[in-house]
Amino acid sequence: MYTPCDIVDKDSVRIHNFIGGEFVPPIGGKYLDNIEPATGQPYSLVPDSDSRDVERAVDAAEKAFATWSRTPAAERSSILLRIAELIDRDLDKFARAESIDTGKPLSLARGLDIPRASSNFRFFATAILHTENEAHVTDGLAFNYTLRQPRGIAGLISPWNLPLYLLSWKIAPAIAVGNTAVAKPSELTPMTALLLAEVCHEAGLPAGVLNIVQGTGPNVGSPITAHPKIGTISFTGGTVTGRKVAEACAPLFKKVSLELGGKNPNIIFADADLDAAIAGSVRSSFANQGQVCLCGSRVFVERPAYAEFVGRFIEKASQLRVGDPLETGTDQGAIVSKTQLDKVKFYVDLARQEGGEIALGGSAPAPPNDRCKNGYFFPPTVITGLPVACRVNREEIFGPVITITPFDREDEVIGYANDTEYGLASSVWTQNLNRAHRMAEQIHSGTVWVNCWLVRDLRVPFGGMKQSGVGREGGEEALRFFTEPKNVCIAKN
Ligand code: NDP
Repeated sequence: MYTPCDIVDKDSVRIHNFIGGEFVPPIGGKYLDNIEPATGQPYSLVPDSDSRDVERAVDAAEKAFATWSRTPAAERSSILLRIAELIDRDLDKFARAESIDTGKPLSLARGLDIPRASSNFRFFATAILHTENEAHVTDGLAFNYTLRQPRGIAGLISPWNLPLYLLSWKIAPAIAVGNTAVAKPSELTPMTALLLAEVCHEAGLPAGVLNIVQGTGPNVGSPITAHPKIGTISFTGGTVTGRKVAEACAPLFKKVSLELGGKNPNIIFADADLDAAIAGSVRSSFANQGQVCLCGSRVFVERPAYAEFVGRFIEKASQLRVGDPLETGTDQGAIVSKTQLDKVKFYVDLARQEGGEIALGGSAPAPPNDRCKNGYFFPPTVITGLPVACRVNREEIFGPVITITPFDREDEVIGYANDTEYGLASSVWTQNLNRAHRMAEQIHSGTVWVNCWLVRDLRVPFGGMKQSGVGREGGEEALRFFTEPKNVCIAKN
């Protein structure tokens, strides 16, 4: 029996996988450096697991399924509630780990990521106590009812930007309805998944119900999507990876949910409450260093308000403090990795080549302190003067970089909003209710926020259109995704 991680030296630990209720090293004995983005230095070792570890996790999940799938909902519910309580109890520990792993400000991890993770468990723990099954009476012939049964082993793959928030958004509904799971966090951000495993262990989650296999996409993600015994795949990540996942799942006819990238429009009409629109837009542009799939990276402003909006937006955005994620008062932490930082820089250079003007930011800031002298920092960056159809306005950057473009007419901005392969989310700021309804109807995105951003009710369907994904998460949609509806038809004599 291993502990959750081994101490390597005073600055580093070696993380273990969580399989069959035990903390175990990867079978191949290989590890990858886990780098703290704020310092650019490795601070732990993450298992570089492979298909053998996935196989072991599938065995454990298969064994656990027989009992867990028959465990009464009330019992499953109370274990999930206990997990939520323990996450809340350990809020500081989780938040610090998330901040160190991702580079996001500690205050954000503490105020958003970790509370949302415990809410995910609490939400689905109680949701399963209030489900209803449909019944259909077929004239005088038969009585039908629908059994919704757990599907078996679910493969759950999540990205690095909101590690525990998104992983728990999958784990909670999957196991709440009686599935068992093999989960893979991003290799860049393994730490809170490890802490979650500890909490699940302490909460009394039976061995094998949740298995966490750490490692890379090719070595762990791919064997999960290809495994014949994993019939359900819930994936959140980039569109290119999503396509690979879809290709792996299609021949095996797996049930798949894909939550992918976005290039979300944020539309401000001249009649909007500009104070609210500016505050909301600064947040939707730069929250988590712009590394939220829902960030509004293309801002469109109706021409009469354009000059005032741009001036006041830049003033407010320039007040965001780029700093050490662990320090109080930091608004913008580090970018998650050197690769991601290089991608952000590439797109800012491309914006210049495409004729854009850098109205704010655009180059790496001075390091916030000595500890962070090698960290991956980039300031809030605003680009104006770009055509709507250029690459910077079409491709997902996933960093603190936005464009602002003026428009004159409603139909024109609807065309701009929809002029992308993506369709994840959008925001519209206006005081004209009829216009808000018209816009909501015509924008091609899975979510349309009106006069707000990132207001999330866990009961609503969440997901994307076009290349932003297939399927929906959240509330009833998630409960349905992770169960198989079976029609039972009883003849009436
Ligand atoms: P990636 O697509 O690179 O990775 C997502 C996950 O998939 C990671 O755990 C990754 O592993 C794994 N993976 C990589 N290759 C494979 C493969 N061949 N088979 C199975 N799994 C694989 O996304 P990022 O981690 O870079 O996250 C950023 C992206 O996620 C952005 O595009 C963003 O828009 C999107 N996203 C979408 C959300 C939504 O709800 N629609 C929410 C949040 C983010 P590893 O990284 O360890 O190699």
